[in-house]
Amino acid sequence: MTRNTSPILPGAAIGVLGSGQLGRMFALAARRCGYRVHTYSPDSDTPTGQVSDVEIVGDYDDLDAVRAFARDVSAITFEFENVPAATANACMEIVPVHPDGHVLHIAQNRLREKTFLVQAGIPCASFRRVATRAELDDALSALGCPAVLKTAGFGYDGKGQVTIHSPRDTDLAWETLGGQECVLEAFVAFGREVSLVAVRGADGAFAHYGLIENAHTSHILDVSVCPARATPALEAEAERLARAILEQLNVVGVLCVEFFLTQEGRLLVNELAPRPHNSGHLTMDAHATSQFEQQLRAVCGLPLGSTERLVPAAAMCNLLGDLWDNGPPDWPRAFAVPNAALHLYGKEEARPGRKMGHLTATGPTPEAAETLACQARAALHTQP
Ligand code: AMP
Repeated sequence: MTRNTSPILPGAAIGVLGSGQLGRMFALAARRCGYRVHTYSPDSDTPTGQVSDVEIVGDYDDLDAVRAFARDVSAITFEFENVPAATANACMEIVPVHPDGHVLHIAQNRLREKTFLVQAGIPCASFRRVATRAELDDALSALGCPAVLKTAGFGYDGKGQVTIHSPRDTDLAWETLGGQECVLEAFVAFGREVSLVAVRGADGAFAHYGLIENAHTSHILDVSVCPARATPALEAEAERLARAILEQLNVVGVLCVEFFLTQEGRLLVNELAPRPHNSGHLTMDAHATSQFEQQLRAVCGLPLGSTERLVPAAAMCNLLGDLWDNGPPDWPRAFAVPNAALHLYGKEEARPGRKMGHLTATGPTPEAAETLACQARAALHTQP
């Protein structure tokens, strides 16, 4: 379809495919700017639906319902990349979808994503496609141990991946993940993990928030801190790589590039997230324009906002369902911490590992902000 080049203005309705916390924070940013938000997902009373104007409950495969949803909005974005391609395509017949189905198609499959990265000349860990047990053995001989076996599709937060420390682990890894297309990746003995949240406007304008440093626990993001410990040369290299990725994929919207920083100081791309990202949540409290408002601006064809950091440093701690182990967390204690902001996603059921909310703290240095955020989180623990 031909793209409408005039911007979509406040008062218009924006559709969100998916209904989790990313959609919720997008909806809050969009409504603050005077837009209406419609969300579509199989669930009801969702984190996004609770703060949207309209919550449609339907299967992603129900293309008639998807088309009806699309007809009521001026543009569509998505908040998780596992929306089926057919769903995105049905929407694209009716309204602009950003990022478009092509970006979704690449980013929702690790094999396609890594193949794109290699073709684009972007450094990433060595990998092999693995569809049979024999191919796993061959790939292990080629890449050596340790290595990480990951499902090609539908993986996030460490789901669908197994580390193979020695050839003895191969049987168990194949039992766990085999029978579907996988990728075997060389294990990266990284020094640190960093991410660059970048955004590209409909006119090709590019902006980013600088490197953010991330620590994971059990493959789930735990703490993000900005600015990352990085030289200007490293920042420039991350920007060069991200710009190349967004331009080559012709992204309109936010895309986060997750990097491994090797002990020798090299950046290797781990993953692309074609949407606002958990490591960018701190932009809501620390930057002139949040990653969610940037997504809105890009989707609506408006000028991008400033990515200036308004405080010397900020840190974000995720609040996982585990925090509820001894009953509801002690919220007043977190509210009592100065310069800490509590964000909760409106999820009722607290399961271990489920992202329920996050805390952001600001401070004079990255270390001070991190200490404050972690103290605020520790204060939430209720004793048994
Ligand atoms: P992913 O879902 O691929 O982003 O993986 C989640 C986390 O698992 C990463 O952020 C890393 O901490 C760890 N991880 C994934 N792949 C590798 C690898 N090839 N080498 C070392 N650690 C990895």
